[in-house]
Amino acid sequence: MAGKKIRVTIWNEYRHEKEEEPSGESYPEGIHGCIRNFLSECDDLEIRTATLDEPDCGIPDEVLDNTDVLMWWGHVAHNKVPDDRVEYIRNRVYNGGMGFIACHSAHHSKPFRALVGTTGNLSWGDNCHEIIWNLKPSHPIAAGIPDHVDLGLEEMYGEPFYIPQPDDLIFGCWYDSGHIFRGGCTFTRGLGKIFYFQPGHEECRSFYNPYVQQILKNGVHWVAPNDFGYKNPCEAPYVKPVV
Ligand code: ZN
Repeated sequence: MAGKKIRVTIWNEYRHEKEEEPSGESYPEGIHGCIRNFLSECDDLEIRTATLDEPDCGIPDEVLDNTDVLMWWGHVAHNKVPDDRVEYIRNRVYNGGMGFIACHSAHHSKPFRALVGTTGNLSWGDNCHEIIWNLKPSHPIAAGIPDHVDLGLEEMYGEPFYIPQPDDLIFGCWYDSGHIFRGGCTFTRGLGKIFYFQPGHEECRSFYNPYVQQILKNGVHWVAPNDFGYKNPCEAPYVKPVV
């Protein structure tokens, strides 16, 4: 991607902020607006936003074809996302190398389930005090992050978390309810890289936390596609020996 900007599309369901008081108070520009604002501090990113109620959910083919990294926030309307958009996303990740970041409740989103291949089910509970532990400081997504981040109030997501074995478990979440959670982990699917990150409940203010912002900035750069040496991964051409 040298010299080229990473094209990021931030997708948000955008229902809570319009319909519920606390979410609107926390994120007056929508969660997508908040994420856009801090990602804009990176001058190598070209950012657009998309929301569920736009035509084609804001992600018609031409938008996805021109997206290097898709960030996804959804919660109460996962099933409103049409299956053809999910399949297009899955194909873009597997065969086009598009990166995918699943924020918070996107563990239950159709695209995340289609990409990782499991239900994404987990245990959940009321908001409580969360500490994020940095389990893999050598990973690029953990760059600049201390050994733990005291997040304050966040919705409790706990184990068991029905995901396939992650490639890397970067962050572990602890809650004062006693639960723990694999809250920051990566997967590779086809040519694409995927990052799931737990914080981001609509009533809380985690997207204003500077370490959460840094982790998501790191995540965008890490899941961005490499400049692949091959361009037609769906083809299976006959080839002659190379030596
Ligand atoms: Zn939530």
